[in-house]
Amino acid sequence: MYRLVCVHCGATYSPDQIIYTCNRCGHLLTVEYDLDGIDVSRDEWNRRPLSVWRYRELLPVRGEPVSLQEGGTPLYHLKTIGKELGLPELYAKHEGMNPTGSFKDRGMTVGVSMARELGMKSVACASTGNTSASLAAYAAKGGIPCVVLLPAGKVALGKVAQALMHGARVISIRGNFDRALEMVHELCISHGLYLLNSVNPYRLEGQKTIGFEAIDQLGGEVPDRMVLPVGNAGNISAVYKGLRELEALGFIDRLPMMTGIQAAGSAPVVKAIEQNLDVLVPEAAPETIATAIRIGAPVNAEKALVAIRETGGTAASVTDEEILAMQRDLARKEGIGVEPASAASVAGIRKLAELGLIDKDERIVCVVTGHLLKDPETVVRQCEPPTEIDADLPSLLSALR
Ligand SMILES: *Cc1c(COP(=O)(O)O)cnc(C)c1O
Ligand SMILES: [Zn+2]
Repeated sequence: MYRLVCVHCGATYSPDQIIYTCNRCGHLLTVEYDLDGIDVSRDEWNRRPLSVWRYRELLPVRGEPVSLQEGGTPLYHLKTIGKELGLPELYAKHEGMNPTGSFKDRGMTVGVSMARELGMKSVACASTGNTSASLAAYAAKGGIPCVVLLPAGKVALGKVAQALMHGARVISIRGNFDRALEMVHELCISHGLYLLNSVNPYRLEGQKTIGFEAIDQLGGEVPDRMVLPVGNAGNISAVYKGLRELEALGFIDRLPMMTGIQAAGSAPVVKAIEQNLDVLVPEAAPETIATAIRIGAPVNAEKALVAIRETGGTAASVTDEEILAMQRDLARKEGIGVEPASAASVAGIRKLAELGLIDKDERIVCVVTGHLLKDPETVVRQCEPPTEIDADLPSLLSALR
């Protein structure tokens, strides 16, 4: 049992209404469960495979989900980087290990399942790349047509390749992501497509399972801090919401300090936290190499500010150089391949640790959000090209000298 509730004015809506923002005040909606009616134990959950659907009692889908076996991603102990930073309990949850290579799959398995249960005939999103890749794959699995809008020239190659190959109708607009989202929102309202950006409250339900899994992987212990890269701010909001539910169920007794990291050229949430603003000032011309978080007007800012403030967390920005340096360090010192936006979370921890803002004893889970292969062009630009030689052993030996 659940309903949709406005986070601002508290208006409630029936769960089968096709609605993305409050009719009364225009603010965001959230899914509210009747937690007293939820009958499940942690032991029961622990007997199921680690995946989004382990937690199905806290998800809105009632029938058979549209699933590609999402979730159950590895939690790696960052021993080398942690040692360098003096943080012995530093972990990375590698969301790049999901079916299409990003955490968006956790949202789309729920979102596309709900689209079907609600009887929607087609789905749509605007995307910096990963949302479109994921939606295209889940729409294919669910047998439902899909339209995606991308900012022309600003989407990493691997992500466009995925959206095209999975059969989405891919449209590039001469404008940025924020504009693409406005356009697709209007299209969905006027033409009855189902909108699966993170303004969709059901999609975020799937994403909250990142926090559930991290706790289960730490043997049921709540980390002291969870660190996420922030673009539209849906993911950090989702993880916080889920943990609040676990707390209300009595499964955990405290929350991690929710910590959001943005790119310096695209950091409106960081500015709102630093300047203690209630309403965020959009960044008109966001710019960063981390295209997945190149977003000037984060749709879920209202929820994210609550998540950060209510848990005593913080927000920080990192430069593109710091992001790329951490992408290399994760790859070369830990064997973990992530795309630039993903490295932002760990780069942010490096920065906060160097500023002395992190307690050395903290147990920290950084969410690394997408796979290295998403953005091969940025990788190739950073690395020396392969050494090409004649096909004989002396040439090989001299090349290796
Ligand atoms: C979508 C995405 C983000 C940003 O998540 P938000 O929920 O928009 O804050 C970060 N990293 C990657 C790789 C993503 O695909
Ligand atoms: Zn409202």
